Amino acid sequence: MTEKLTGLYETILTELGENPQREGLMDTPKRAAKAMQYLTKGYHETLETVTNGAVFGSETDEMVIIKDIELYSLCEHHILPFIGKCHIAYLPSGKVLGLSKFARIVDMYARRLQIQENLTKQIADAVMEVTQARGVAVTIEARHMCMMMRGVEKQNSVMKSSVMLGAFRESQATRMEYLQLISN
Ligand SMILES: [Zn+2]
Repeated sequence: MTEKLTGLYETILTELGENPQREGLMDTPKRAAKAMQYLTKGYHETLETVTNGAVFGSETDEMVIIKDIELYSLCEHHILPFIGKCHIAYLPSGKVLGLSKFARIVDMYARRLQIQENLTKQIADAVMEVTQARGVAVTIEARHMCMMMRGVEKQNSVMKSSVMLGAFRESQATRMEYLQLISN
């Protein structure tokens, strides 16, 4: 797979008017192929492999919130990065998930070609599936290179997307508590 991608990147460089044989570009097709494979490795992961049994019984029913999880993804329209942070909250009902696993879930879906809205929903559904919580909330704030570097060239716009499930959708008080917690 790396070999085939390497050949394709060489073609891309040529088509862009570059000389893939010049010194600075000698290894670029191979490096680019490997980088792109890394940035899309989420296609080869599943919820089972990334959570790896790290679900624990717990009596707590208070809101758990994981703030500012770094997020790096690629937009599926331009294959350009969008970068930001993700906040996840859930209301446990008998089960909690190991802290590092939230970041792993975010990465599993972010390391694919995405649109931010779908990414937000996939993370929320995954956390719900794994924890069977009373509610799950996910918010992503991200800057999109396809907006900043090309097109409308708006450097300071941030896209914010949220998905609320269960109690976060049904109870305004719960939703307000969440929004307050992530805003400071
Ligand atoms: Zn885009």
